[in-house]
Order: sequence, then structure tokens, then C-alpha cells
Amino acid sequence: MGIQNLLKTGNVGVGRRRWVVLSLGLLASVATRAALAEDCPGHPDALGTSRTLVVDPKAHPRIGTMQYPETLPLQDHEVVLTFDDGPLPRNSNQVLDILAAQCVKATFFTIGKMAQAYPQGVRKLRDAGHSIGTHTQDHPLTMNKMAIERAQQEIDDGIASVKAALGDDAALAPFFRIPGLLRAEGVENYLASQGLQVWSADFLADDWRHISASRVYELAIKRLEQKGRGILLLHDIQARTVAALPRILNEMKARGYRIVHVVPASPERPATPTEPQQWQLHPPTETVAISHWPKIPSFVFADAGALAAPSLSDLDWRDERSPTLAELLDHDRIGRGVPRPQQAPWPRQWPLPADSSDIALPVPAENIFEIPEKSLAVIAMASHREEATGVADREIDRDAKPNAADTSESRRLRGHSRHARRSGKAHIAHRGSARTARDNPRELKHLAQVRKRSA
Ligand SMILES: [Zn+2]
Repeated sequence: MGIQNLLKTGNVGVGRRRWVVLSLGLLASVATRAALAEDCPGHPDALGTSRTLVVDPKAHPRIGTMQYPETLPLQDHEVVLTFDDGPLPRNSNQVLDILAAQCVKATFFTIGKMAQAYPQGVRKLRDAGHSIGTHTQDHPLTMNKMAIERAQQEIDDGIASVKAALGDDAALAPFFRIPGLLRAEGVENYLASQGLQVWSADFLADDWRHISASRVYELAIKRLEQKGRGILLLHDIQARTVAALPRILNEMKARGYRIVHVVPASPERPATPTEPQQWQLHPPTETVAISHWPKIPSFVFADAGALAAPSLSDLDWRDERSPTLAELLDHDRIGRGVPRPQQAPWPRQWPLPADSSDIALPVPAENIFEIPEKSLAVIAMASHREEATGVADREIDRDAKPNAADTSESRRLRGHSRHARRSGKAHIAHRGSARTARDNPRELKHLAQVRKRSA
């Protein structure tokens, strides 16, 4: 009896059926691998593109777990590559060559002005079979606060420029990425009204920062391993990305990751059937701090006016002083001794407003969870004391604020912790408080602040 017949007749128990499904999966993956080798002539070891996912932007208008509840319906170990801000011939062409050598298809979020300057660069993306989305006309890093009319203009002009470069409207996917991921509801609503799908990301490799190519590689692989699948955001205009990309792709292949190419649905090409839950990646947990891009808040602010609005304006590819388009296009500027654009110091310290006891601080960095024992003891004692005396959270928060005066209260708490350690109680307190902190967002925030103070 063939496998298909077995499944059809239902003559298999649950365990057996699972085995059959597994076997089918294995057969499929062997078949895919065989197909990949054939499909990538001259590159027998290519990573390849394992499948094409057809999505309906209208059914899923916002994707990417860095900011939205939904992301692409990927299976474990499936990755979607995205490249922003191009085309910029020298680097973008190298990215295209690297992808071609691996027979990998990606999605490019192109800038209107770049498309005007390098229309042939956009056509190269299309000719290589990649998906092309847009990323505004001028790449403003103020989409979160600009007038909606201006935002609409940026979106529309970007699309018009890329379409003009392509000379073929159908070659442009209704995929859009907001510059700097600086989302705003009005912008998202407008995009949805135009049938455009907003792509955030599931993880980054920080390739717009002034870090080495090997650091880009490390971050890409480390964050991919943490997520297990997802949309990776890269920049094809960056030399460090060009340098890191071959290694990233080789490592993905070595670790069993597969590349998925995403294309929009059309009347001739229906969306890949999916279940709603496939669009949900594992929900973000409080113990996994990934980044602090503005997420859609799931709560109502009592007083929106008191919100801190961290300026995230340099989270994208531009430096402190953004290079002008003329500079980007001026290939000879370095040869003529024209200095490179100034580099921004990174990471930046965002000054806290004076009255910040109620605001949401940025999500703490990952290493925040490597808590020195001293701090834990302080927290443990603080929470014990809170329970005992009913001191409000807020008071402790204020006390723990960075740059706060070294109040007698905090001195007393530290004294407590020393005492606790000496008396052998600190170990118990340590374990207890760590558990409490992980379970309680308020404690987490508090912990972050205490950590900052003790750093
Ligand atoms: Zn960008």
C-alpha cells in the first residue's frame, strides 16, 4: 500500500499516521534538496530557495513580530531575507551576486530617490527574480510624527518612482517597510487602505551600525537561533553587509535553515493556504529582550502626554548627519579627499525627562538579565521591605532612577543586602527575587533601573 493510499484509507493509527507524515516531510525535503542542486547550476552546494510563499497583503496587513502580533507563516528553520535602502550600485550589485551564487531569492525595500538615480538597479532586482517592495521616496526618519498628508506623499512618491524605474507596475509587490521602523497608526491605516502590507521584521543584524562585518554575521546567526525562523532585516547598501552575507548564508545552510521567497497573491496566483495560528510566532516574553522599536501598545495610556518619545531617528542606515543623495551618488568623493559623513556615537544615551516615574522605559538590553548578585540582593531586600512596610513601587522607582541622589533609603537598602549576605540569607533571597522579577513586568523595569544605577 502506497503512502498516499494509507493516508486516504485512514488505515493507520495516530502514531503511525504521524510517522507517515514525518516520512512524507523527509521525502519532500530530500526532493527539495535534489531540486535545489539542479536549480542552481554551477553551485552544487548552494543554499537555494526552498519554497515560494504567496501572501495576501490585505488579509495580513502588518507583519513582523518586532512590532506586530503577526508575522509570515514560516515553519521552523525557515528564513525570509529582506534588504532595505537600495539600490546603490556597487554594494547592491554585490549582494545580488552573492544571492545568485546561492540561488536565494529575497525581498528588497527600495527607496524612490535611489530608484530614480539608479533605475537599472531596480530592474536588476526584478530580472534576478527577487520581490520588490518600497521604502518611501526620501527615507524620512520621522514617519512616526509627520503630518499624515506628508507621509502619504512619501509613500505614493516612492511607489511611483520605483514603478517608473521598472516600467511595469506588476513587477512591484505591494510590500512596504517604514523607514527606521518608526511606525504610526495613521501611516499603517493609510498603507492598509492602499492594499499595502507593512513589513516590520522578526530579527536584525544591526548592519546599519558602525560594527564589523563579523559582528553582523554573529548577530544574524545568534538572533536567528533565538527565534528559530523569521524575517531578517539587512541593508544591501552597506559594505559590511556585503562582507558578512556569504558567511551568513553558508552558516544558515550548515545549520539546516531554509530560505523562503515571498510573493504577493494575484488573480493568477492564489495565496498559499495557511491557518491563522501559523501567522503567530511564539509570543514575545518578558525574559527575551530583543529590541525597543515602538510596538503597537496593547494597553491604554492614562495620559499620552506624559509618554517619553525616545528619538529613534538613527536606527536606520543614516549617520548622525545623513549623507545627502548627491553624496551617495558621488562615487569619487573619497578619491577627491571629501570626508565621509560623520559617524554617530553608538549606542546613544537618551536623556531621561526629569519627571519620568510613570513612563515606560525602553526594554532593557539582553545583558540586563546577567544580574550581579549585589543588585539582586538589593532588589530582594527592597521587595521584602515593600511587603513589610507597604512602600509604594513608585517610591522605590524614584529612588532607583539613574542619576538620582544617593538617598538615605538606598544606602539603607544596600546596608541590608550586605547584612543579608553575611547572614547567609542572600542566596535564598536571590532565587526568590529572580523568579519574582521575571514574572512581574514592574519588577523587571525596577530591576533594570537598579542595574543601571549599579553599573
Ligand atoms: Zn531604511
